[in-house]
Amino acid sequence: MIDYKLHIPGPVNVSEGAYKALTTPVMGHRSPDFVDLYNQCQPLLQTLFQTQDPVFLSTSSAWGVMEGAVRNLTRKKTLCCTCGAFSDKWIDVVKRCGKSGDALSVEWGQHIDPVELDKRLSTGEYDLVTLVHNETSCGMMNPLKEIMQVLAKYPDVLSVVDSVSSFSVVSIPKDELGIDVLLTGSQKALALPPGLALLSVSSRAFERAKQIEGRGYYFDFIEFLKNHEKGMTPSTPVIPLIHGLLYTLEHIFEEGVQNRFKRHADLNAQVHKWIEAKGFELLPQKKYASKSLSCVKNNLDMDVAGFVKALKEEKKLSIDGGYGKIKGKTFRISNMGNENAETIAFLLSQMDAIIDRFLPS
Ligand SMILES: *Cc1c(COP(=O)(O)O)cnc(C)c1O
Repeated sequence: MIDYKLHIPGPVNVSEGAYKALTTPVMGHRSPDFVDLYNQCQPLLQTLFQTQDPVFLSTSSAWGVMEGAVRNLTRKKTLCCTCGAFSDKWIDVVKRCGKSGDALSVEWGQHIDPVELDKRLSTGEYDLVTLVHNETSCGMMNPLKEIMQVLAKYPDVLSVVDSVSSFSVVSIPKDELGIDVLLTGSQKALALPPGLALLSVSSRAFERAKQIEGRGYYFDFIEFLKNHEKGMTPSTPVIPLIHGLLYTLEHIFEEGVQNRFKRHADLNAQVHKWIEAKGFELLPQKKYASKSLSCVKNNLDMDVAGFVKALKEEKKLSIDGGYGKIKGKTFRISNMGNENAETIAFLLSQMDAIIDRFLPS
């Protein structure tokens, strides 16, 4: 029985309204009813992705399309910008796909330096760059605009940007920045259950994909495009989540996109204030701190595992005790999705109520 509320950085808490939308009766995925649903989502998605390009719906988690992007777009060699668990994994995925790739690597919590990227791209070795915009494992948000300015100098190098935990939290003007593939997943900032990935693909990426053999079928961008033109997906999609998506998109535009960005920034600042008041520090430099979540450095030598467990069992609130190699050395608090000043204040007050037991005396 799930009797606690999620404040981990994904999946995040799903609203009653979104859950209800998931129970809409299923229809045939080649029916006019489905085409209607797909076509209702499309303009809202294009507005939110800030793009004229199509936005595809993939029945997979984000990794499906992260792998797919590499299979569709690498001709020569991929440069993976790695700065945490998700971006580190991407270079591994490139190699498992039998493609050649290198890492432009920085310490977890550090950002990708546009000057270093420029140096690497100037070798002419690469034709694809992968970037995780918001490295969820470290709570670090990369300087996307500066990075895309570097990529603009290299017209033969395509870009794939993972915005899984930043999409709809901060503005990402896809077309203006020249991002070739912008992708996200349903279970993070969109606050839906997992199972749907969303991606928008540029026309130069389609041109590249057409020249590439071995794109596979399930994540073939050209298949997506052909079906998109009919208001459909290549294979049977997760229809309940698409109902949930339409509900969520309408909700986002009701709130107002700018208001949504501001709400996330305010909630993030509210958490940061608590962190400072307690004497904790953030893992990344403040300038590159994520607006979606806070990754807190355990500089007070707290018993993180004990704290996270007690918060969940006693207060019915679930935060994260750190990811991978920084488990216990950090902990993470999400402010994604539908949180507001009251729900965050409640979380912080409940943390306050028990934290002293887990700090060294
Ligand atoms: C959660 C996350 C992923 C992985 O998403 P899945 O839906 O599990 O495939 C990828 N990138 C980032 C930045 C994430 O936060």
